[in-house]
Amino acid sequence: MSFILWMDVSDRLPTRDRIHKYDPEAVTTCVHCNSHLESHAHLLFECLFSRAIWTQLLNYCGTHWIGLCWNDFIAWASTHWRGNTSVIVAKKLCLGAAVYHIWRERNCCIFEGTKRTSSIVARSIIDTIRYRLSSINLKDHPLIALNWNVNAN
Ligand SMILES: [Zn+2]
Repeated sequence: MSFILWMDVSDRLPTRDRIHKYDPEAVTTCVHCNSHLESHAHLLFECLFSRAIWTQLLNYCGTHWIGLCWNDFIAWASTHWRGNTSVIVAKKLCLGAAVYHIWRERNCCIFEGTKRTSSIVARSIIDTIRYRLSSINLKDHPLIALNWNVNAN
């Protein structure tokens, strides 16, 4: 997951806006909403499909939508999500898992013709994070354990 996140932060994922630069015949619209240009920012953060996923994830993190664009959000997260406390680890897991799963869902839609709802994708992300958090000692962070419904041992 972290590799995909790095690819995105480095603005290198081959989204349709990038492909269009090399192939003028290529489709440019977002596969989820069919109404906006598929850019990194749109696909991963601004599309209503992605935003619905983020809204659920941020609820689990005990926070809410802060209304930033993708680049501002990444800059904000890299400033505020420093260290390895359980709270920060959970938020970093959210970011990495969201980028990975949203990118994977986009590819499944385009190349396999499958389409899942934002709720189902969010559930996959939440299950991934819960699995990862279950291996972390959350004894000092009972709220995270409670939010994510994992044992705090
Ligand atoms: Zn869209």
